[in-house]
Amino acid sequence: MSTIELPPPNVTHEVLNQPPPLENYNLFEQDRVLVEALERENGGWARARASELGIVTGGAPLAWGVQANTYTPVLRAYDRYGHRIDEVEFHPAWHNLMRLAIQYELHALPWRTPRPGAHVARAALFFTLSQAEAGHGCPISMTFSSVPALRAQPEVAAEWEPRLTSTEYDPRMLPAEQKHGALCGMAMTEKQGGSDVRANRTRARALSGSGPGAEYALTGHKWFCSAPMCDAFLVLAHTDKGLSCFLMPRWLPDGTRNRMAVQRLKDKLGNRSNASSEIELDAAWARMLGEEGHGVRTIIEMVNHTRLDCVIGSASGMRQAVAQATHHAAYRSAFGKRLVEQPLMQNVLADLCIESEAATVAMMRLARSYDDAQATGNRHFPRLATAVIKYWVCKRQPTLVAEALECLGGNGVVEESILPRLYREAPVNGVWEGSGNVICLDVLRAMGREPESVEAFFDEIELARGDDARIDGFVDALRSELTDFAGIEFRARRLVEQMALALQASLLVRHGDPVVADAFCASRLSGDHGAAFGTLPRGIDCQHIIERARPQL
Ligand SMILES: Cc1cc2nc3c(=O)[nH]c(=O)nc-3n(C[C@H](O)[C@H](O)[C@H](O)COP(=O)(O)OP(=O)(O)OC[C@H]3O[C@@H](n4cnc5c(N)ncnc54)[C@H](O)[C@@H]3O)c2cc1C
Repeated sequence: MSTIELPPPNVTHEVLNQPPPLENYNLFEQDRVLVEALERENGGWARARASELGIVTGGAPLAWGVQANTYTPVLRAYDRYGHRIDEVEFHPAWHNLMRLAIQYELHALPWRTPRPGAHVARAALFFTLSQAEAGHGCPISMTFSSVPALRAQPEVAAEWEPRLTSTEYDPRMLPAEQKHGALCGMAMTEKQGGSDVRANRTRARALSGSGPGAEYALTGHKWFCSAPMCDAFLVLAHTDKGLSCFLMPRWLPDGTRNRMAVQRLKDKLGNRSNASSEIELDAAWARMLGEEGHGVRTIIEMVNHTRLDCVIGSASGMRQAVAQATHHAAYRSAFGKRLVEQPLMQNVLADLCIESEAATVAMMRLARSYDDAQATGNRHFPRLATAVIKYWVCKRQPTLVAEALECLGGNGVVEESILPRLYREAPVNGVWEGSGNVICLDVLRAMGREPESVEAFFDEIELARGDDARIDGFVDALRSELTDFAGIEFRARRLVEQMALALQASLLVRHGDPVVADAFCASRLSGDHGAAFGTLPRGIDCQHIIERARPQL
């Protein structure tokens, strides 16, 4: 056999001009805006814990996030013999994320430790871990949010609260009383209507007695039930007296499975890790929470807290996108200079950093208002601010993430970069727990019914009066817009956007970096801004803004 003579090998695969991976860094400490806000809003006592979670998140959870979204949950409707079991099987990475979140009390901190700053501390922790993976935040958020609604029925709360606030993650499919910890979901939305829950057709039939705490059989369907592996759900169903709220466990008191069938998992936009599902209830056993016929009033406690988490989750997604974009641009060169040195890229990056900082400071201020409300019972500020900020931060997330993705060029559309996952997730919070229009109408409702909430909202904004003439002028114009009721429903989005901008500007001017605050007012309040990101006016120190936001490896 003759030998083939090949030329010596060439070096064809030298990797040049690619950034180092953004991993093994402290996601908390490298976020100056978050660190400052934790201190300012009374959560300084949780600094060590947040810092620890920041380091942890920068390690294995980043890989778990990839795995949990690659090896997606599988519905096991039946066992091998044909018995209905309705269980969902997850990759171990999902369980690791859940365990970590529960260990750090993301599901329960303000209920376990009701001290000033507890909601703020939890917000910082949730914000940090969600950057590795957003999907597991759904059952964590619902479990956290179920507690204030459960408390409407003290004897049910006494039984369930210790389980739901346990720091042990126990994914076993067993009756809750045999487990070391439990999770709670919610089921309101039906096929014929989600925003308008009055259209619900699920019926509740009294089993023994009726009214608060009594046992009922629920029959109907729910079109969205995220996290069907939870141990219990808050469910809305009609009695003869109207829509009422129920706690429906997965297991019956006699140790058999409750009559809740998981029909299928949703093939959805957003994360792939969480198992959103459709369920059917065939005389499922449940107990009434709160007043009969006032189910919305009971479950709204849960909804308000999940809306807070929509803000935290969206701000977190924005922060991770900005961290990736600024990091990439600091290492990648094109046309002889690093991207971060190119003037037009500076404009884009700085604009993204400003938006992310505004979202973070608003989120942390909102979280503090939940601490204040828990301590004093005064809910006027969070009543309005939750809806205003939820609308705006969720609205900004998809646009910001799309632009951050573009900063990475082709790498940004490749799954390994995390940007496609952030992008898919970005519109979801805008739909969940009140879509944009519904939230804006809720703002109008709150203003109409609770004038004190308008006062509290503007009192906060007015704390910046005299600090920047652009805010003063903007707020004066906004106040006069709000006194004009003609076509107010048609104009609601514009008004809510302006309310959010006024609040963000006030917070940034008082507490933020002065360069960021000035750029925010120039672009967002004075109208010197285009429709896309990267249209900041001249004279802004973009380099300073970018360096403030960029994680340093
Ligand atoms: C990923 C995901 C997970 C979810 N998980 C759950 C869950 O666990 N439990 C649960 O109960 N639900 C869940 N939902 C459902 C969600 O809360 C609903 O989809 C949402 O409330 C909207 O309801 P809908 O889909 O019926 O839309 P619709 O109510 O039909 O609304 C459609 C559009 O019309 C707009 N609209 C409605 N009314 C008005 C009006 N009066 N004026 C102007 N515009 C209006 C809305 O803003 C929206 O844009 C989930 C949704 C998603 C995307």
